[in-house]
Amino acid sequence: MNLKFTFLTFTFCFLCFLSVSQAQNVCVELIPSADVLSSEGAMKKMAGDKQKFWDNGQVISVKFIGGSEFVRAKVRQYAQEWSQYAHISLRFVADNANAQIRIAFEQGKGSWSYLGKDALSIASHLPTMNYGWFNEKTNDREFSRTTLHEFGHALGLIHEHSHPAAPIPWNKEKVYAYYAQQGWNREKVDRSVFRRYNHQITQYSEYDRLSIMHYAVPNEHTIGDYEVPWNTVLSETDKRFIAQIYPKPIKPTTPTTPTKPTKPTKPIKPTPPVPPGPQALRPTSLAWGWYGIPFPSVDAATEYSQGRTYLFYKDKYIQWNYDERTILEPMSLKDWNGVPFDRIDAAFYWEVTQKVYLFRGTQYVRYDVATNKTDAGYPKNIQAMWGGSQMFSSVDAAFRWSGNKIYFFKDNQYLRYDMSTNKVDQGYPRTINATNWRKLSFTKIDAVLKWTYPIVYIFSGGQYHRYNIETDRTF
Ligand SMILES: [Zn+2]
Repeated sequence: MNLKFTFLTFTFCFLCFLSVSQAQNVCVELIPSADVLSSEGAMKKMAGDKQKFWDNGQVISVKFIGGSEFVRAKVRQYAQEWSQYAHISLRFVADNANAQIRIAFEQGKGSWSYLGKDALSIASHLPTMNYGWFNEKTNDREFSRTTLHEFGHALGLIHEHSHPAAPIPWNKEKVYAYYAQQGWNREKVDRSVFRRYNHQITQYSEYDRLSIMHYAVPNEHTIGDYEVPWNTVLSETDKRFIAQIYPKPIKPTTPTTPTKPTKPTKPIKPTPPVPPGPQALRPTSLAWGWYGIPFPSVDAATEYSQGRTYLFYKDKYIQWNYDERTILEPMSLKDWNGVPFDRIDAAFYWEVTQKVYLFRGTQYVRYDVATNKTDAGYPKNIQAMWGGSQMFSSVDAAFRWSGNKIYFFKDNQYLRYDMSTNKVDQGYPRTINATNWRKLSFTKIDAVLKWTYPIVYIFSGGQYHRYNIETDRTF
């Protein structure tokens, strides 16, 4: 995937901007004019610094220039993902401190970043990275996509479609025509889209069309059947490659020959008691993380077909689409044909049959997505249909984990239900705590929303945690 610069002379600015009408992300490489260089940077340019990568293990200081607390939090959150794989730490410092990476949010000026240590050569009052379209309505996939991409540049990675082995069968005339709409001449398209780096001047791993550093390529820009999707998360190759550039120290292996126990000369102090379970994380407030949500808390939430999700509060609900950037006005629960409830306690989607289960008090209904109405014969009693006395008589929250497993929550307890055996699994109910749900700070849950796999949102009061059901922990 990503290329490593070992030769290209000095500073390139990677400018990626979004044409809103086309929703196409395009990036230009610019040589910054002398007025953005610090005096030291100008000297370095003369000396022809070739190395773009930071030192392995380096702590890179980062600060913001402007931007709301909301967009700052999102950039902090997604930027840190690189550090899971790279032996690099990002330290976010106060606005008035000096920092090596300086992030601005100048709207309409594109999203871009200088490449690796080139940031050190930029005059200290200027940004080294910009996000030109982040705002309070930006969705998480966009935050993830663009932040990971720009921090990839900041760690020294260049565009994947410029990989020496990129096999994209461009339909060049179509691409020229497409970019001409936004005022690009052919030379600029050649440089930004078609250019590939020479084998001799770069180090790289295998080409990876799923790299976060790749443009999306629509099928109609190619000859034959070739396209590249919108990559919004780090690919496996991204993770491997960055770990090669910034390798983490290898943990010392335990000695193979056991040492003989030595007799203690002094009485051993008793070890302090181990605190019960991992320390809980702080939850995020709904008003901040779900900016613009018209509810103070969430009663119930469910995924639905076609990437839609629904959140319920009292007799209202909102629809939230993965790709939606805005939250619409709340709508009335009466829109759900045949649902006889004044509010919803819990809900989940069973995609096998395309049914949504909606719970209220001791009852529930099954809602059919295809016909958009409640199935005949409902409501029914929860315990009568869901495992008898082993099931809770009413529920606070529910969601489908994966496979046939549904989790139900009630007060400070939860249980797992198997849809294939129609039974509550053995060993339940259990207690909701930071051990069973790693680092969760809640002991009672209002709603759980299954997001794009493996992420679920767990709501309680006016707060929520994000939980990764693959790694089985909050994050
Ligand atoms: Zn870029």
